[in-house]
Amino acid sequence: MSQKGILAVVSGFSGAGKGTLMKALLERYAQQYALSISATTRKPRVGEEHGREYFFLEKDAFEQLIAEDALIEHACYVGNYYGTPKSYVLEQMEAGRDVILEIEIQGALEVKKKFPETLLLFVTPPSAKELESRLRGRGTETEAVIRDRLSRAVEEAEFMEQYDYILVNDDLDTCVQDMHRLIQAQHQRCSENRDFIRQMKQELNEL
Ligand code: 5GP
Repeated sequence: MSQKGILAVVSGFSGAGKGTLMKALLERYAQQYALSISATTRKPRVGEEHGREYFFLEKDAFEQLIAEDALIEHACYVGNYYGTPKSYVLEQMEAGRDVILEIEIQGALEVKKKFPETLLLFVTPPSAKELESRLRGRGTETEAVIRDRLSRAVEEAEFMEQYDYILVNDDLDTCVQDMHRLIQAQHQRCSENRDFIRQMKQELNEL
């Protein structure tokens, strides 16, 4: 079966728990997955480190990456550039690791256009009420920010159907298992196993 890694994109509403989900998946299956580190022009938040959460770049340096075609995709989000460096993703996939991009919707659709085999996963809480209460529960955001995130969620919901699967993040453990199962199932897709199919045909012809 397919030895090459799968490319999976994870998007979802702010407050859906994507960060926690990624962390839990990577802790449980450290050998199997590689999480791509994006480049961005936004400033680091307290506790973030260059090369760990993001590669924090000046605008010029980011535009240089675009010019060199070194990014798989990039998008502008709330006034800053975000993009996925190409080399790491391709290297990891070649090495047989499943690569996860945690990126917003425009970027996700751009990746799917370039690499149609990409698995698009959309993470959501079980209900809009639950989304609201998670955003409030963080206790770190102002009312204006919460309203802004909720109205953004209304816009983002329009794109949900363009994803391959919905991941409802109600119980974290179940969600991690669902995500792992969906990604692993991709390894058995015919499109991921062209070499195997070719080999099988050849052997059959030689019998
Ligand atoms: P934050 O600034 O909160 O870390 O991220 C803002 C948004 O940018 C999130 O929705 C995140 O998923 C998205 N994002 C992070 N990295 C990338 C990237 O490389 N490309 C795109 N298109 N979006 C990204």
